[in-house]
Amino acid sequence: MSFNSLGLSQALLKAISKKGYTTPSPIQQKAIPPVLERKDVLASAQTGTGKTAGFTLPLLHILSENPKEKYRPIRALILTPTRELAAQVYTNVKEYSEFLNLRSAVIFGGVNQKPQIARIRQGIDVLVATPGRLLDLESQGVLSLKRIEIFVLDEADRMLDMGFLRDIERVIKMMPTQRQNLMFSATFSKDIKKLAHGILNNPVQVEATPENTTVEAISQKVYRVAKGLKTGLIIKLISDGYWKQVLVFTRTKHGANRLCKKMISANISAAAIHGNKSQSARTKALAGFKNGSIRVLVATDIAARGLDIPLLPHVINFELPNISEDYVHRIGRTGRAGAKGQALSLVSADETTYLRDIEKLINMKLPVEIVEGFEPDPNASTEPEKRQQRGGGNRSRRNSGSGHSKSGEHKNNNSRRRPKRNNDRRN
Ligand code: AMP
Repeated sequence: MSFNSLGLSQALLKAISKKGYTTPSPIQQKAIPPVLERKDVLASAQTGTGKTAGFTLPLLHILSENPKEKYRPIRALILTPTRELAAQVYTNVKEYSEFLNLRSAVIFGGVNQKPQIARIRQGIDVLVATPGRLLDLESQGVLSLKRIEIFVLDEADRMLDMGFLRDIERVIKMMPTQRQNLMFSATFSKDIKKLAHGILNNPVQVEATPENTTVEAISQKVYRVAKGLKTGLIIKLISDGYWKQVLVFTRTKHGANRLCKKMISANISAAAIHGNKSQSARTKALAGFKNGSIRVLVATDIAARGLDIPLLPHVINFELPNISEDYVHRIGRTGRAGAKGQALSLVSADETTYLRDIEKLINMKLPVEIVEGFEPDPNASTEPEKRQQRGGGNRSRRNSGSGHSKSGEHKNNNSRRRPKRNNDRRN
């Protein structure tokens, strides 16, 4: 199948070919036609499947077909959970609309609002936003959502994980009831299905990869290792493999900082990316990682959402996530758009339960390797760390108010977090 047969305008086809895309990805093949027919769509697709173009291309097509008014009301809203994803989606919107007479803007917290306001005041058709800044600017009277024709909720599962449910409900009340709704989510919990039921009207359901299964192009492996030997092992793997671009996941912000320092001491250029970092530090780290001046990017789950690093060869879980679905999100960072990738996990005894849960979720047993000199500790407890430290995790969350405010989205919203999640998840 080619893009020509999907019914997109010449201007969009030109932009697609400029991007170098030749064939629509499965999610694009399935999502674009119903969106063009003005239907609501509920799509199951993880990052890396080309989902952004899946909703952006038909959205731009629809907007460019309708006559524009002199006063440009905002006609499409794309809501994303994180700043990085918002920035990435906006880049795509700009690229795909290059040959159209449509204007767009992106707004998110953690940066000065003035340039964002100035851009909106010039008149825009498409707004990409994170919930916090959107509600803020709406309440200041900077923007109105009363003329929204198309609403996209991207990474809806992550939105709920981050405690944005109430914000989403507020945003929905600001839009006209007559509108087209597109909802994308990597996973489909009961909560997501309930949210979809509340937002979508008779949706067409499309699926890129079967729910909660990992992309075939990714080769996965587990290294069983003693907890105290993980840093040594990860440095050995990266050095011996001469790996040039490695995304490493840690469970906490402090863990990310600690590991980053150790990497730098071992002469491996590294940067950490998490919610306590300023927006400019995050942007700089990501740019360095993309241009090759930084070999290792150490990230927490939330910070990593929406990072678009094409053809990322290696993802390493320094610690397994305590929420199994996060494993699928993490390894979705490699093997993107058909490229072969490698996802490795360093697993100590206390993570045995997490590993079992992940294997159950992805419905496969992961191959295990033990590296000489980095053997697991046979006497270590297999009790998950979260149980051992439950009090500590909660304490750290209560005390992390200043970190939250720096992340620019929410303050004082601990109560909105799903109780299921522990550790400092707003990262
Ligand atoms: P996404 O899942 O939207 O984050 O997209 C993942 C990556 O795939 C991005 O780098 C896109 O630029 C790229 N991509 C999207 N659609 C296509 C396509 N049809 N052919 C090749 N690459 C694509």
